[in-house]
Amino acid sequence: MRLFETHAHLDLPDFEPDREALIEECFNSGIEYIINVGFNKETSLNSLDLAKKHLHIFSTVGFHPHDAMDFDAELVKRLAREKNVLAIGEVGLDFFRNLSPYSVQREVFANQALLAVDYDLPIVVHNREAHQECYKILKQAKAKDVVFHCFSGDIIFAQQVLDEGWMISFTGSITYANSKLEDVIRMMPNEQFMIETDCPYLPPHPHRGDRNSPLHLHLVAEKIAELREQTPDEIAEISFANAHRFFRVPPDPMKPQHHKGGKSSKSGNSAKANTAKVNKQKSEKRKNK
Ligand SMILES: [Zn+2]
Repeated sequence: MRLFETHAHLDLPDFEPDREALIEECFNSGIEYIINVGFNKETSLNSLDLAKKHLHIFSTVGFHPHDAMDFDAELVKRLAREKNVLAIGEVGLDFFRNLSPYSVQREVFANQALLAVDYDLPIVVHNREAHQECYKILKQAKAKDVVFHCFSGDIIFAQQVLDEGWMISFTGSITYANSKLEDVIRMMPNEQFMIETDCPYLPPHPHRGDRNSPLHLHLVAEKIAELREQTPDEIAEISFANAHRFFRVPPDPMKPQHHKGGKSSKSGNSAKANTAKVNKQKSEKRKNK
């Protein structure tokens, strides 16, 4: 099984003790690519640092609704031009925790959605209890490449998102007993979903309470496979292809390209992890992203 981890926060202090060893283990365990997601100035910079040190880690840049008050448009624009930055995110609205005022959240999200369209980058959306407001802002920005990370809507909202050609993405939360996403998982087309861990948050069952990591990503694929009556390998391959296309992953300089000859090898070539040391990173904030 080869996997594409589309949403991780490996730059956070939770991973300080064993970050490099864990990354190497991931790349030796079937994880081929990791998108490391920024959510404010510090984590966007640290994500880019991590991406520069590892050939198969890419980063995003953006200000999360919780961090909307610190929004720095110039920083986002500057980092958006970096070749290792593949998306704007995670950006959006969070009317559940409301750590920033509504009006600021809306303005900062709209600003970054427009910026993403301007820079022709996909958008990783964080949405809690703000489905229609997120939808409206993305439509107004004429956003084309959008993923609703850690999807939390009902089947009607899922259909609305899918009708736009946007993607939905699932975390380990689909393995929880109280998950209400079964119907959404069964109805979504093969071309419009991705998988992620959102680590260190949201560890899948039976690892709840532990630090999450990309090593648990296969559990998300397995749960989707069970619900859709497909094999875990099929789900892994489909979501891999979707993520590769959605994030427009650049050609791998370490691998020969096989684009013309149909499907490339499925042998699960594990990625070569660049083992350069990561600078010590500090973070004072710890919030569920
Ligand atoms: Zn996140």
